[in-house]
Amino acid sequence: MIPFEYKSPSSLDVAQLSLDHHQVMALGGGTTLLDLMKLNVLQPRQLVHVKPLLNDHVEVVDGKLVIGAGCTMAKLADSDPIKKNFPALRQSLILAASPQIRNMATIGGNLLQRTRSTYFRHPDMPDDALQGEHDALSASGVDTTYLAVLGNDGRLVGTYPGDFAVALVAFDGSILVKGREGQRTIKAREFYKTPRGHQTQYSTQLDEGELISHVTIPVGSAEEFDDVTQQSFYLKIRERSSYAFALVSIAAGLSLEGDSPNDEQTIVDARIAIGGLASIPWHSAAAESALIGKKASDETFRAASEAALAEARPPVGTQYKVLMAKRAMIRALQILRDEGKFDDERLWAMQHGRA
Ligand SMILES: Cc1cc2nc3c(=O)[nH]c(=O)nc-3n(C[C@H](O)[C@H](O)[C@H](O)COP(=O)(O)OP(=O)(O)OC[C@H]3O[C@@H](n4cnc5c(N)ncnc54)[C@H](O)[C@@H]3O)c2cc1C
Repeated sequence: MIPFEYKSPSSLDVAQLSLDHHQVMALGGGTTLLDLMKLNVLQPRQLVHVKPLLNDHVEVVDGKLVIGAGCTMAKLADSDPIKKNFPALRQSLILAASPQIRNMATIGGNLLQRTRSTYFRHPDMPDDALQGEHDALSASGVDTTYLAVLGNDGRLVGTYPGDFAVALVAFDGSILVKGREGQRTIKAREFYKTPRGHQTQYSTQLDEGELISHVTIPVGSAEEFDDVTQQSFYLKIRERSSYAFALVSIAAGLSLEGDSPNDEQTIVDARIAIGGLASIPWHSAAAESALIGKKASDETFRAASEAALAEARPPVGTQYKVLMAKRAMIRALQILRDEGKFDDERLWAMQHGRA
């Protein structure tokens, strides 16, 4: 770790003036940033502590859930609106990291974590090291666990590791950024950009001097969230049942109409995003259109999962992720159809292999 300067400015206006996201970086909870600095992957000369300056409230205003970027993952997961009405969002938070990290980490910082692939985190690895054909990989000894199979443009790129952003993208959230020129709102589905040319990691729409100040998600009224938000679920598959990143995750919401049996009901609205499979949180418009207007049958769910993975280009050693993602999507949709709201007790049992 190289020496750096720590700044604790008195206002956000002062903080954002100097930020360039390379030499001068925002410090939220520090749970990712300091790791990367210890590895010398990032070498900022200055950290600007923004966490104490950022709003940390969670409220519903004009049909939108509004989350201050300084809110911790733990506080957001335990906030009333999320606990009562938004299972997928809560699950994406409580299945991430550890209680200690969730108590420190901010929502702003969580959205901007870098890929966890060991290969991509190595400071001696030039950005263009993974150019070339997929097949060359089998001889290279690279750990393929966190390589993207969607949106990789036939190249080797790392996966986006976060969970919350997958739910944010599924439920069409927006990211509010504050910069020298004022504020702007960016759709979460457009915020992340897949790597181009020689890049091996995602980039974002965030410009120099800009900070994430809030996150919003359309949810309906404060008393009664939209069906598709209430009937939502986040399924996370990982190598061990806690403290691990997703191999595959599915954020899903379903709004159904009609009487039982469940598979005779019609899907009036659907939300689908996939984690662990692409270099960005992956919104699947293809899966959503394969669901909306159809009967909520296993056959429809299978068709949606096929549509979602149709463009997959798995590098050698990652083909299993395609099958895993299809099965996870079908399972998440079946849970939503057959069990409706999923309480915490059942969630823990399932995630720990006991249900
Ligand atoms: C062992 C381990 C396991 C983990 N497991 C998971 C997991 O399963 N799922 C998951 O989702 N996450 C996981 N995490 C990641 C964790 O959630 C993130 O480290 C955390 O959310 C980052 O938040 P932070 O506030 O600490 O960010 P920081 O480390 O402070 O910052 C991260 C990045 O965001 C920038 N930044 C911070 N705040 C802002 C802002 N407001 N505006 C602009 N830029 C900003 C920083 O400059 C930096 O580039 C894990 C982390 C560890 C160490």
